[in-house]
Amino acid sequence: MSIQATERLENSMSDGVLIVGEDLCAEVVSRKAAFDAVEAVFGAMASDDAYNFPVIREAIGYADALYGFKSGFDRAGKALGLKSGGYWPGNAEKGLTNHQSTIFLFDPDTGLLRALVGGNYLTAIRTAASSSVSIAHLAREESKVLGMVGAGHQSTFQLRAAAERRAFEKVVAWNPHPEMLPRLAAEAEALGLAFEAVSPEELGAEADVIITITSAFEPLLMKDWIKPGTHIACMGTDTKGKQEVDPALLAGATVFTDEIAQSITIGEAQHAVQAGLLAEAEITPIGAVINGDHPGRRSDAEITVFDGTGVGLQDLAVASVAAAQAEQTGTAVRVTL
Ligand code: NAD
Repeated sequence: MSIQATERLENSMSDGVLIVGEDLCAEVVSRKAAFDAVEAVFGAMASDDAYNFPVIREAIGYADALYGFKSGFDRAGKALGLKSGGYWPGNAEKGLTNHQSTIFLFDPDTGLLRALVGGNYLTAIRTAASSSVSIAHLAREESKVLGMVGAGHQSTFQLRAAAERRAFEKVVAWNPHPEMLPRLAAEAEALGLAFEAVSPEELGAEADVIITITSAFEPLLMKDWIKPGTHIACMGTDTKGKQEVDPALLAGATVFTDEIAQSITIGEAQHAVQAGLLAEAEITPIGAVINGDHPGRRSDAEITVFDGTGVGLQDLAVASVAAAQAEQTGTAVRVTL
């Protein structure tokens, strides 16, 4: 978010709480704005200008729901707040999205609630921005083939954001549930990219960049299937026990993450670390690359892995953009508490 936008948001909030609904978020937060906001907050995290508070996530013993909070403070972007929500498996039957979340932004100077922002669209766009930031900083420039593992709700957002980072010519995809692939194929075709459904082995042999975005609890991609020089963004593993790739793949790669504490506990690296194949000290925050403190990829043969675990500060960053844009365009509702 620009400094002017931040100031506008700060000044306006004295008049009440801005309510920014889901549809409005989708209208006012572009992929570019999300990319810029997520890249900036990853940089701020690496320079200790922003930090995430411990995550709360509980099975509430009702409606099979998982509910929790992700919160933090970005001193550089002046974003203080939390995302609250979780997963309600019975929602689909009610015509609702299973993942539900809402973002609360507070004034860091006064503690006043500044904005209440729908978090569902923003979660998708900030997660896509995260892998996209990793591709921008770590993938080989001449990458031509994008490999997609996963074809659920997040996958189309991931595909669209990735397609803006390199001149991809083709998408190869595999999903444990092949019947879900046509939606991803349609998205690729809408972007003018050739699309081929392949086996996971073929995907590893062809892809220059791979995004994994599934709910898997076991490795879907093995080390020997991946060719030298590949960049892999592991985006699905965000909980203890989840897993998308072979731990040996991380052991043989240069590993980056959004946040090390999450990477080793709930991210893809949890398994390689537990197995003694990867040390915490070998994992680099992507913000260090963004800030120029780490060179990132060192050779065309190196395999790079980005463990995108998803942090609350990403949500606050894109929610701040949504609130500022909604304020600027006069499209949000305002209430006084
Ligand atoms: P979705 O339910 O729409 O799709 C699920 C995907 O996982 C599909 O591709 C499906 O075929 C696959 N899948 C389901 N069960 C599986 C299993 N047992 N083994 C292997 N694959 C399986 O979900 P979504 O909204 O697209 O989210 C995908 C994943 O991304 C989820 O695990 C979610 O928690 C995670 N996620 C991560 C972040 C982050 O910041 N890292 C943000 C949002 C979502």
